[in-house]
Amino acid sequence: MLEQLDKQFVLQTYKRNYVNFKKGINATLFDETDRDYIDFTSGIGVVSVGHGNKEVADAICKQANNIIHISNLYAIEPQAKLAEKIAKLSEMDVATFFANSGAEANEGAIKIARKYGETKFDKKRYKVITLEHSFHGRTITTVKATGQASMHSPNFAPYPDGFKYDARIDDIYNSIDDETVAVMIELVQGEGGVQPFEKKDIQELAKFLKEQGILLIIDEVQSGVYRTGEFLASNLYEIEPDIITLAKGLGGGVPIGAVVTKHKDIFEAGDHGSTFGGNYLSTAAASKVVDILDEYKNSGQLDETIIYFDSKLNELIKKYPELLLEKVGVGLMKGIRIKDADSLAAIISKAFEEGVLVLRAGKNTLRLLPPLTISKKEIDEGFKRLENALSKIS
Ligand SMILES: *Cc1c(COP(=O)(O)O)cnc(C)c1O
Repeated sequence: MLEQLDKQFVLQTYKRNYVNFKKGINATLFDETDRDYIDFTSGIGVVSVGHGNKEVADAICKQANNIIHISNLYAIEPQAKLAEKIAKLSEMDVATFFANSGAEANEGAIKIARKYGETKFDKKRYKVITLEHSFHGRTITTVKATGQASMHSPNFAPYPDGFKYDARIDDIYNSIDDETVAVMIELVQGEGGVQPFEKKDIQELAKFLKEQGILLIIDEVQSGVYRTGEFLASNLYEIEPDIITLAKGLGGGVPIGAVVTKHKDIFEAGDHGSTFGGNYLSTAAASKVVDILDEYKNSGQLDETIIYFDSKLNELIKKYPELLLEKVGVGLMKGIRIKDADSLAAIISKAFEEGVLVLRAGKNTLRLLPPLTISKKEIDEGFKRLENALSKIS
């Protein structure tokens, strides 16, 4: 029924699984037959405070019963307050532009970089260096910024110029020329395989770029908002980028994106905008999410959960050394390198049958992005089910 509706009326851009989820409580989902699933995906790193979060739902209802939307032609109190929280928690002197998604946040970042390149140098600079295996979004510009040739399909050409892809952080130094205005990277590549970069390499790069007056844009659409255990992965790496983008986990499921920058005066009135960006509803929801997670971090619970999740992950990998090659990632942005792509596909589908949702990243990485508020009981149950799945494969 749902499958038929979907196939008839929804554009088929996703390879979908036709389970019909009806209810969620923290990291547990229930389908229409009341079967439960442990959610190790949190909707690709989005539902950071869990499903059915009462506090977030109440904040949304309260706001929805009052004002959902005016427009950015008027000041919006929850937007201003959320921007203040982001500045405070990032521990940087920054201001924020609100968008509605990760790709849109990255578009905003690229626009800031382009204008900086137009106005701050004698000769215009516009090139942005990104990395291979990166992922920056699906709009025409951000898909071109994405360092995966397979995503630059001729079907959608021509793409905007001005992107260059490097294989390694070290290569960036040689790639910079007198047209380079920015380097845009993830600190932990998410879609590319849950691959963190070395802190030392990132700090060196940040220092070098600063000396050159080239902008460092950190795409924290996936790694931001406590996913790595700190408010920002940039905090974990102890760098102060020129621009940081956020989205996925920020709204707890309500669409929101953010461009956070210390360059507060590059954009002037009229340079950029969004009808929905930062509206009452999304910023009220995100404010509550950030408050909940700030408290969760300060109480030590987030660190405890990370340590517990990690120990379970280590146990699992030890039991299946021929299938599970190594653990990757940081915080609750974790992955397991799997022997090969076929085994990975088999694990994901078996895991679903056993009642645990997991993700793929890159060619051969099993990706785990549970809600940050996942309970120990849910972690235990999820790993038990994952082990059941593995035992049926090996
Ligand atoms: C998911 C993701 C994006 C794209 O976000 P959308 O909200 O899907 O547009 C961009 N960058 C990174 C690092 C992501 O993980």
